Amino acid sequence: RAKANGRSQAMVFDEAMRAESLRLLDLEADLRRSINADAFDVHLQPIVHLGNGRVVGHEALVRWRHETLGLLSPGAFIGVGEDSGLVREIDWLVYRKVAEWMAGGRSKGYVSINVSPLHFRSPEFATRLLATLDAVGADPARLRIEVTEASLLEDSGRTLAQLNELKARGVLAMLDDFGTGFSALSYLRSFPFHALKIDRSFVAGLQESSRGESEALVRAIVSLADGLGIDCIAEGVETRHQRQCLREEGCLYGQGYLFGRPQALPVLSARSG
Ligand code: C2E
Ligand code: MG
Ligand code: MG
Ligand code: MG
Repeated sequence: RAKANGRSQAMVFDEAMRAESLRLLDLEADLRRSINADAFDVHLQPIVHLGNGRVVGHEALVRWRHETLGLLSPGAFIGVGEDSGLVREIDWLVYRKVAEWMAGGRSKGYVSINVSPLHFRSPEFATRLLATLDAVGADPARLRIEVTEASLLEDSGRTLAQLNELKARGVLAMLDDFGTGFSALSYLRSFPFHALKIDRSFVAGLQESSRGESEALVRAIVSLADGLGIDCIAEGVETRHQRQCLREEGCLYGQGYLFGRPQALPVLSARSG
């Protein structure tokens, strides 16, 4: 009986796995179709100076206009995009739109784009990104890239070469989600980062009653960045209290619902244009 039971459990497991892979395959096929149809929008969220509230730049965040599910955030599809490699094609659609918007002359400050770690596997990434800007006449000095620690792990020599190639044209690099990855601090010395983005989990912790620990972590991150001469940007700032704490800890820049939610490109350009 134990054996029979084991077998039926195995079957149930197989069914679940098949359902799961079918679900993934569907999403992958959907993504492929949507790439061809260019069903991706770029939303921009302001990054501000925490002291005076001035907008210093915007982060570009992709949204998928799904035919049946509506507007989807990256959490729903970037994972499948990474597994299938399709995220690279999605990113190129995003980068082209960002470049066109920048060339339109309406952007305020810089625009930062998220770069999947998969891009750095291609030695052509930096060259292609610069060519994308040049093709429409966008100023590279107003573009920034956000990379995660995962990008620094794979082939660090190749990644470093590309970050330097971009920096030579004025495209500065920011380390995203700082504090959530491996945080081998030597990265900060080896790679030419202009800024680090404090992950929003630390900022969320500033709101809790036991916020002492988050405060200590934010303080440590800010002083690390100060010592290295790089900027700090806090992610996920939702309350005035968080903003105040961050200012007290010496964090200069922030981004979050308190200052503005991500908004579709055309809306934004219409407003500031
Ligand atoms: P991220 O780069 O850390 O982006 C910040 C995320 O925090 C965004 O989620 C943003 O909408 C959200 N956020 C901003 N302010 C607040 C706030 O005050 N509270 C809360 N709870 N959340 C806030 P989103 O747009 O869903 O993007 C999620 C992640 O997907 C991004 O995290 C980034 O890693 C990735 N991603 C977004 N756009 C792209 C893209 O074009 N290409 C690639 N490869 N990845 C992207
Ligand atoms: Mg980011
Ligand atoms: Mg981030
Ligand atoms: Mg984050």
